[in-house]
Amino acid sequence: MSLLELAFEHSSEPVVSLLDILYYPDAQLRRNAAVVENVDGTVASLVDQMLETMYAAPGIGLAATQVNVHQRVMVIDVSEENDTPQTFINPEILTAEGEEEMQEGCLSIPGVYETVKRPALIRVAAIDREGNPFEMDADGLLAVCIQHEIDHLNGKLFVDYLSPLKRNRIRKRMEKWIRDGANPDDLPERP
Ligand SMILES: [Zn+2]
Repeated sequence: MSLLELAFEHSSEPVVSLLDILYYPDAQLRRNAAVVENVDGTVASLVDQMLETMYAAPGIGLAATQVNVHQRVMVIDVSEENDTPQTFINPEILTAEGEEEMQEGCLSIPGVYETVKRPALIRVAAIDREGNPFEMDADGLLAVCIQHEIDHLNGKLFVDYLSPLKRNRIRKRMEKWIRDGANPDDLPERP
């Protein structure tokens, strides 16, 4: 399928079905995602479904791992208007500098927000939805989000940066929340 056909298909498709998001401590979240060999129509439509799912959640970032697809694909939109989707396929951090603490949350661990320390300024290389390689510098929220999503592709979660005690408390709360039916109106809170 050509890119033109894909673009047409994309614009003529009004609704993309939402994907189910895995919740911590699901073991699938610990898998290491595979490198995407070909950015073809299948990958582009995965990107579209992931964006739809991320906006609906709502969230500012989503890694394919979180929707149980174990390929190195992630989407991010940190804009206020939710109108600047960014796609990263096979992302790689080239350089990382400085240090910054920011409160993080995760669609796979809803309701839980904790402070995590990460490099403040990064340079990342990736491939976009159309298959074009690019490099970019990121700081602030975008830098945090890129690192958080790349962690997902490596089977790592932001709670891994917390103490084992805190992580276990969060895990227990999540397990109870899932047992109770994973009600989005009654989210687990920070322990
Ligand atoms: Zn996350």
